[in-house]
Amino acid sequence: MSPSNETAEGREAPLVIVGAGQAGAMAARALRELGHAGELVLIGDEPHAPYERPPLSKAVLADEGMPDIGLLPEPFQAQSGLALKRGRRVVRLDPARRELHLDDGGVQPYRACLLATGGGVRVLPALPPGTPGVHYLRTLDDARGLRAALRTARSLLVIGGGFLGLEIASTARALGLDVTVIELGPALLGRVMPPEASRWLATRVQAHGVRLLLGAKLSGLEAVGGGIAATLADAGELRAELAVVAVGQEPNVALAREAGLLIDAANGGIRVDARCRTSAEGVYAAGDCASGFDAATGTHRRLESWQNANEQARIAAAAMLGEAAEPPPPPWFWTDQFGCNIQMLGHGAPGLAYHLRGPLPEGREPGKAMLFGIDGDRLVHAIAINAGGDLRAFRNVLGRSLACAPETLADAGIPAKQLARLALGPASA
Ligand SMILES: Cc1cc2nc3c(=O)[nH]c(=O)nc-3n(C[C@H](O)[C@H](O)[C@H](O)COP(=O)(O)OP(=O)(O)OC[C@H]3O[C@@H](n4cnc5c(N)ncnc54)[C@H](O)[C@@H]3O)c2cc1C
Repeated sequence: MSPSNETAEGREAPLVIVGAGQAGAMAARALRELGHAGELVLIGDEPHAPYERPPLSKAVLADEGMPDIGLLPEPFQAQSGLALKRGRRVVRLDPARRELHLDDGGVQPYRACLLATGGGVRVLPALPPGTPGVHYLRTLDDARGLRAALRTARSLLVIGGGFLGLEIASTARALGLDVTVIELGPALLGRVMPPEASRWLATRVQAHGVRLLLGAKLSGLEAVGGGIAATLADAGELRAELAVVAVGQEPNVALAREAGLLIDAANGGIRVDARCRTSAEGVYAAGDCASGFDAATGTHRRLESWQNANEQARIAAAAMLGEAAEPPPPPWFWTDQFGCNIQMLGHGAPGLAYHLRGPLPEGREPGKAMLFGIDGDRLVHAIAINAGGDLRAFRNVLGRSLACAPETLADAGIPAKQLARLALGPASA
């Protein structure tokens, strides 16, 4: 062991995780499950024990009683010997000395370190956090603040019609608020959905009584007495008691950047290889802050999803122990909004030919449908609307050349499992 792997007392330095969110907590669990019995430190700047974020815009916001969102069960916290430092921020990474500097002046040596710092909300300069009536949503405290505000407000302006903005709009509408969503793009979720699905979703949002403004260019935005005023280039002024800004996130990469680690210019994430190793020896990265290697395309991508955080945490934990891990399953994402559970496998891309296994549910009705995105003869993207169970059958099909005509995937008369077998061909038998 090199001297830099030892503490001042000559003990083997611990494994240290920076960021006690989804990836950080799951990596801590994985390290213990993989048999790491030595010192393990998890440092997070939030005051809470690690928790899951997806319920924040759903059950937590809807005030359906507080769901259990903890990521580290009490028995794990009590028995694992994990040193969880809450409310503590890492302010500097020194990869040469293998040290982390904390906001209380402390220095934490490490043998291997995982950066799991996630991302922060992208801020609109006209409506910075803290402006009365303005909310952003990333943390449990944000969700509690927004929930309290939604209880008494009558109107809400959601700026940004991405997954998060739509989930918040859906929840607020269900609580009875008058909701307007402003989206700059010409279509809802136009980068991850084909036009027919975007149109369907827009119709559904409107069927729930939300005023939806697409291609909406804001020319003015200000907090006025008792609310928010938004001026739109071609739709005049809108006023609401509350505004939620949901215009994306910025990965937290300051520590990595200042330490000289490679940052991907294309997506702003910390560049890692297939084993989550950064460009600095002994430093790993996982989750929303990482630009991971996508073996399917040979490119790097930064994903903001629960599954990606879990998978990269698992892979990074193994790598920190010098072990290889199973490669990740296909990317998977879900959202719950306007009475629909929407799940996706793989990635949408311009130019894919989509086949609908429908029909798409009309208005506010339930009903299920799927869309299959084909590139040449390969299935590269699948969207399931209230059909998560059916989607599972296609995990093995993703990325492969179809053994059946792509149009066959549209045949709703063939049960999903049988259809997936047809798509895989005799090799699956
Ligand atoms: C409201 C909401 C709803 C979502 N819904 C879905 C969904 O339906 N489906 C889905 O797939 N995904 C969803 N996501 C995305 C998913 O939750 C994230 O992709 C996931 O949490 C990423 O995990 P992470 O560990 O990378 O980051 P995080 O969970 O954000 O954790 C990072 C932690 O690191 C801390 N930190 C940062 N810098 C430092 C530092 N220097 N020192 C110490 N600590 C630091 C942060 O404060 C944070 O606690 C949602 C996210 C949000 C916010």
